[in-house]
Amino acid sequence: MFTSHHINRFSNIETPFYYYNTGLLSKTLNALTSANTYNFHIHYALKANSNPIILNMIKNHGLGADCVSGNEVLKAIECGFPVDKIVFAGVGKSDKEILNAINHNILCFNVESIPELLVLNELAAKQKKKINIALRINPNVDAYTHKYITTGLEENKFGINPYEFNEVESVLSNCNFLSLIGLHFHIGSQIQDLTPFKNLCLKINELNKWFLHKGHNINIINVGGGLGVDYKNPNGSQIVDFDSYFKVFHQFLEPLNRQQIHFELGRSIVAQCGSLISKVLYIKKGINTNFAILDAGMTELIRPALYQAYHHIENLSANNLEQKLKYDVVGPICESSDCFGKAVFLPETKRGDIIAIRTAGAYGEVMSSKYNLRDEVKSYFDV
Ligand SMILES: *Cc1c(COP(=O)(O)O)cnc(C)c1O
Repeated sequence: MFTSHHINRFSNIETPFYYYNTGLLSKTLNALTSANTYNFHIHYALKANSNPIILNMIKNHGLGADCVSGNEVLKAIECGFPVDKIVFAGVGKSDKEILNAINHNILCFNVESIPELLVLNELAAKQKKKINIALRINPNVDAYTHKYITTGLEENKFGINPYEFNEVESVLSNCNFLSLIGLHFHIGSQIQDLTPFKNLCLKINELNKWFLHKGHNINIINVGGGLGVDYKNPNGSQIVDFDSYFKVFHQFLEPLNRQQIHFELGRSIVAQCGSLISKVLYIKKGINTNFAILDAGMTELIRPALYQAYHHIENLSANNLEQKLKYDVVGPICESSDCFGKAVFLPETKRGDIIAIRTAGAYGEVMSSKYNLRDEVKSYFDV
């Protein structure tokens, strides 16, 4: 929630920029820790936001790091995450990325295909190091979220399908430099209804038993991330309900032989603490609507253009909050998809007004680009 103090400060900073509320991030991390009464191991998915100040706070809270590129692995190490809490996933790891991670002795590679097993074994042999792997399994569980952020269905590019397990076993029996220690799952993102997570648990129980019966010593069950946040109501639900989320896994997951349960949360930790702050450049009359043209666009926050994502938009400068008008809130980029919201009700909006686009802490700054040769987006903190 923004006060006159924020508005005064924002009016002295060149827009657009990201503004992060570290107080809220701290509270969120505390809520996460207190909800975790089950001794779950929690990793933070760096791809949601890798701003060094944010990473530092998360690391100081004792979380591990879930990385999906070689540079994320390096960033996590640079930031001081312990290497035995760093995991590396991704369908397309390059040889260079793999070698770097092997040399840094990370906890585990989450392997997404049979060809990757062979390459990992070859590179580990070359470095004369035995490495830990987890199989990223495609559980064919529907997350009922946007199709671009569903990852756990057979038709997705991610993970190994159960019908490939026999082949995986015979490949693994010839891979002397790989040690299978975990099973990894991640079914998608922005999942608010907890039912898909329950379905995931039931599926994992089945697959976990299969590996046990085959004689594999699986120590880690990694259930991924994907817990969703409330984009509609950023003030009303600032912190997600980690209690109910963890409870589902406690209730339905059946770990065998004291297996560790690992989580990889991104969005639910950082989304609500960030806002994109922008100014109105022009109000332009259209045929059926007025356009509020901002100095921020899809180059700063691409989620609306990429996933048709909703973000709550607020005019922080307006005085008369009673009377609302309808605006299409758009950016300056030469693309019709560069639109933050259609038919958004805002108080009467003028050139120079400060606009906050809320719940932008996850998959915002990290996805910014220089398209149209835009300036690199800056970030500010409440400290
Ligand atoms: C993106 C990703 C996550 C985090 O997802 P959120 O929806 O941000 O919680 C976790 N694990 C893997 C493998 C991912 O790709």
